[in-house]
Amino acid sequence: MQTEFDVVIIGSGAGGSPIAYTLVKAGKSVLILEKGPLFRPQYQNPQGLSDFKRDELFADSPEKRIRVPGVANQNEAFYSSHVEPDINDEPHIYRDPNGQDRATIEGYTAQVVGGGTQLYGGVSLRFTPTDLRLQSFNAGRKDLKNDPNGDVRYRNAMMDGDNPDRADDNIIDMRWIVQRELGGSNIFFHEVTIPPGKVEGTHQHIGTEELYYITEGEGIAYMRVGDDPATDKYPTVERQVMGLGNHEFKELPVKSGSIIFTKSGGMHGIRNPGTKPLKFVAFLYHTI
Ligand SMILES: Cc1cc2nc3c(=O)[nH]c(=O)nc-3n(C[C@H](O)[C@H](O)[C@H](O)COP(=O)(O)OP(=O)(O)OC[C@H]3O[C@@H](n4cnc5c(N)ncnc54)[C@H](O)[C@@H]3O)c2cc1C
Repeated sequence: MQTEFDVVIIGSGAGGSPIAYTLVKAGKSVLILEKGPLFRPQYQNPQGLSDFKRDELFADSPEKRIRVPGVANQNEAFYSSHVEPDINDEPHIYRDPNGQDRATIEGYTAQVVGGGTQLYGGVSLRFTPTDLRLQSFNAGRKDLKNDPNGDVRYRNAMMDGDNPDRADDNIIDMRWIVQRELGGSNIFFHEVTIPPGKVEGTHQHIGTEELYYITEGEGIAYMRVGDDPATDKYPTVERQVMGLGNHEFKELPVKSGSIIFTKSGGMHGIRNPGTKPLKFVAFLYHTI
């Protein structure tokens, strides 16, 4: 193990991590020390829950009690409006004017890999370039079908950097037909073209369901083993899933008229090994 470094950084949040990144890019060797554990967010966890002990999206009670023994406010409950680790894991104690020790949430920030930054950054809404683009051409529009700007091209859609299918020319086209709120759910309806030899990476849907209806060409769809018992008879292959490592998938031949349904929590992807374009329409809606 390496024991000498140019720079040692204590804390892996917004302060430490970018400095480490810049130093490493400049050729320095850097060690980051982080006292907190690694926490997985919901999208990395197969159950769709985060590793946080107190995740208010799923908590069945808003009550949180101080369990630090001996402090004056032991067993007092407090409420905060965001997900967080358990403050009892790292109590902050101060002595009040009467000489009594009290636990406090003042100054408390999450101690995890990524720093408190990971938690508080996660509270904020983050927009992807696609969100902004969709808004820019979708606002007030009733029909995007014939809009020449409605066609979005994705390179290596839903693939990690080390996915063996990644290639500079692995580009798929999506024509957004509808993207709007309907009946309390955001819905997306788009037409996808996968050119010959190209692949859409396998990925997981959490909080959304999606249906692919193949309209042209032939291809191979991947559906995670167990997601749909009707696929049990098909061969099993291992595929890399964006952000989630390798998983076993059923490999289904699809052609015009085939339907692939992926439930919330399910995983899927699709490939065009043929010589003609593979086209399908994808209908996605939110389930929570
Ligand atoms: C409730 C709340 C809401 C916020 N909202 C916003 C917002 O909306 N917008 C905004 O811009 N900012 C916001 N902030 C501020 C922002 O989150 C912080 O300024 C920023 O995250 C601080 O980054 P940092 O790297 O200094 O610290 P952190 O991200 O907290 O990282 C420090 C890390 O150092 C580790 N550490 C500490 N001591 C040691 C040690 N001795 N050995 C090893 N590791 C150690 C800790 O475990 C921690 O992981 C908010 C902060 C809070 C608390």
